[in-house]
Amino acid sequence: MSKIKMRVPLVEMDGDEMTRIIWRMIKVTLLEPYIELKTDYYDLGLEKRDHTDDQITIDAAMATKKHGVAVKCATITPNAQRVEEYNLKQMWKSPNGTIRAILDGTVFRAPIIIDSIKPFVRTWKKPITIARHAYGDVYKDVEYRVEGPGKAELVFKTEAGAEHRETIFDFKGKGVILGMHNIDSSIESFARSCFNYALDTNQDLWFATKDTISKKYDHTFKDIFNDIYEQEYQEKFAEKNIEYFYTLIDDAVARVVRSEGGMIWACKNYDGDVMSDLVATAFGSLAMMTSVLMSPEGFYEFEAAHGTVTRHYYRHLKGEETSTNPMATLFAWTGALKKRGELDGLADLVGFGDKLEAASVKTIEDGIMTKDLAMLSSLPEKKVVNTEDFLLEIKKRLDKML
Ligand code: NAD
Repeated sequence: MSKIKMRVPLVEMDGDEMTRIIWRMIKVTLLEPYIELKTDYYDLGLEKRDHTDDQITIDAAMATKKHGVAVKCATITPNAQRVEEYNLKQMWKSPNGTIRAILDGTVFRAPIIIDSIKPFVRTWKKPITIARHAYGDVYKDVEYRVEGPGKAELVFKTEAGAEHRETIFDFKGKGVILGMHNIDSSIESFARSCFNYALDTNQDLWFATKDTISKKYDHTFKDIFNDIYEQEYQEKFAEKNIEYFYTLIDDAVARVVRSEGGMIWACKNYDGDVMSDLVATAFGSLAMMTSVLMSPEGFYEFEAAHGTVTRHYYRHLKGEETSTNPMATLFAWTGALKKRGELDGLADLVGFGDKLEAASVKTIEDGIMTKDLAMLSSLPEKKVVNTEDFLLEIKKRLDKML
């Protein structure tokens, strides 16, 4: 059998610890035997980032702008302990933060669904994708502790010097104040990313705020989404028979819990922070969450939602075998390969990605799984295997499908 050929390289961002080990295993066992892999490789492992003064992260993000699609392995975001452990020149910033700042994207997180792993919410049958706005609100706020009586005002000075004032509150005693902001351009690009992703994946888009209470702040979000939808997307949505649905956040929560899933839920920054953990936990496991960063210009970066699984890595270093779940990392690869295939008109590459995903889901449905899933699976007979054997079991099923 001849190998599948690629046209445009995938930007490959290697990473750290256990996920770096799994990265290699996935390539050797499940990709290289079938595809003439063409990648533009960037080593985002912490040592290389330190060695290049983090320039490698910027280069990788710029390469994504050039080629359009990237796949990223989990990476360490250094803290004080890591600075010591790796003898770093400085506490480098989170690579994901750096990449996101350059691509200006929205992160979409969706669970991989397995029949025998039942979500805690009984009605959920299809994945729920959370799209989180990643700019502003309480994450860029200014806070003030009021220590005694006084008047708090909101003051805006225009560049020309005009002043707009509004009383926030006349304090009679102690209290707290918070000032936060957002900008139209960021909300607009968030909205476009969400509408494009809905079209891309053929799913309804839900968006919710508290505009009845927050008549200017949240209402601006609602209006921007609505205007962009009506002007740019309404017809395209109708053609695909999908829906854009706006409601209040409290109503959205109630509807999501009663729904069978299968929609993209766009959330303001704080709502997205809270809801993505809720949805991930309710679907079973962080190891089964995929994540894709989509920029308003149409660039994609696929990754697993989890970190580098440090605990397993230290065991691996001691020579012990580990049963680390490679599913989300594998789906980052299939997602990226399928997107590359779609953009380059390579049906065989898209087909391969679909089959590899199906083979990995089938492996778990057949009762062969990593340790983390054994606790969640409702199957009566389960065989827990190490990561390498799990990938080999996927390969067996993939070979049958091909
Ligand atoms: P983690 O996701 O690596 O682990 C959190 C918990 O989930 C652990 O108990 C772990 O055992 C379990 N877990 C996660 N993925 C698993 C898998 N595939 N199989 C089995 N169990 C799994 O997060 P952490 O421990 O908070 O962080 C470890 C490192 O990862 C840190 O250095 C952090 O900076 C980094 N991190 C990177 C990213 C990223 O690159 N996107 C995201 C989060 C954390």
